Amino acid sequence: MTDIKKVNLLGLPPEKLIEFFESIGEKKFRATQVMKWIHQKGAESFEEMTDVSKALRAKLEGICEIRGPEVVSQEISTDGTRKWIIRTEGGNNDCVETVLIPDGNRATLCVSSQVGCSLDCSFCSTGKQGFNRNLTPAEIIGQVWIAIKSFGPMDPNGPRRVTNVVMMGMGEPLMNFEPVVDAMVLMMHDHAYGMSKRRVTLSTSGVVPKIYELVKRTDVSLAISLHAPNDALRNELVPINKKYPIAELLEACQHYLANLPDKRHITIEYTMMSGVNDNEEQAHELAILLKDLECKINLIPFNPFPNSGYEKPSNNRTRRFQKILADAGYTVTVRTTRGDDIDAACGQLVGDFQDKTRRSQKYIELREVKS
Ligand code: SAH
Ligand code: SF4
Repeated sequence: MTDIKKVNLLGLPPEKLIEFFESIGEKKFRATQVMKWIHQKGAESFEEMTDVSKALRAKLEGICEIRGPEVVSQEISTDGTRKWIIRTEGGNNDCVETVLIPDGNRATLCVSSQVGCSLDCSFCSTGKQGFNRNLTPAEIIGQVWIAIKSFGPMDPNGPRRVTNVVMMGMGEPLMNFEPVVDAMVLMMHDHAYGMSKRRVTLSTSGVVPKIYELVKRTDVSLAISLHAPNDALRNELVPINKKYPIAELLEACQHYLANLPDKRHITIEYTMMSGVNDNEEQAHELAILLKDLECKINLIPFNPFPNSGYEKPSNNRTRRFQKILADAGYTVTVRTTRGDDIDAACGQLVGDFQDKTRRSQKYIELREVKS
């Protein structure tokens, strides 16, 4: 007998789930029922779906499945930060990681979109590992599912275990566009996770044409990994800048904001590297560069990894940079590390688990400290 590959319903966004139900001769509302079972009650089997007829459950059992990604390890830090290593499908032992950072009433989940990354930013260890493969929608939304389920049985009326999602784990989300959009639609959908669009953030190093596509498809919040106040320096740090220089990137940001249904700002991420992009002149240059953009600036002290060639600036230097921008009228936050005892700086354990030369130590945690 040939083994028929079952459809994994975990990764299907509402429209595709409805389409699927219609294609097997079932009514639309069944898709809604099943969606709530999966994403709000954490069902892993059709048996659990007591308001679905036995006959339909048996039919679904035969042709589909609900399969989350395989968890290789889960660690919980003394400060409450949780970190998962997730093995992706495909037999290559490729892993990504997910980190949950609780902070008061908030709990922010940092989600990965690719194994590795093709964009090769000079200071990023995920970039150094090269591109391995894209995650599927089920592997992306599965990270949210796993994080919530780690607190026990899912309860749609209980406390929210994940209040915010940032696509700031491994990979460049806009280079894995459709699966990332599908997963983000689920994050925000009322019959799935129901998160506010202000609390779901996509971070990109600047894949400009995809920013124009993104606003046609969703209205998530946008973070831009800028890291430099001019093209000469950004070309060195973020090679995709050679293809899409800063002026084009900022124009895309303006277009994005202008096409959102509500008033929002862009988050500008700026990883600070000692002696590279952290001097006072560069702070002034950045202040001028961003003057027409509704934005907040998040300074990220560089998180070192072996042979990176970069160091993080002293706290004093970071504060000075922050002050110049704050004096120019910007809201500027500085990220602080969380989950040190479990190496929650992205990739550390994945590196150990796989191959030491692939260590990725991105600095993703993270409570933001207001200036
Ligand atoms: N590819 C996307 C999202 C993942 S990276 C992007 O580049 O935006 C998430 C953030 O971590 C980015 O702002 C990235 O520049 C930053 N980052 C990567 N390596 C880092 C390091 N070693 N130290 C501090 N921040 C880093
Ligand atoms: Fe890729 Fe982002 Fe790392 Fe650049 S910073 S290599 S875009 S993951």
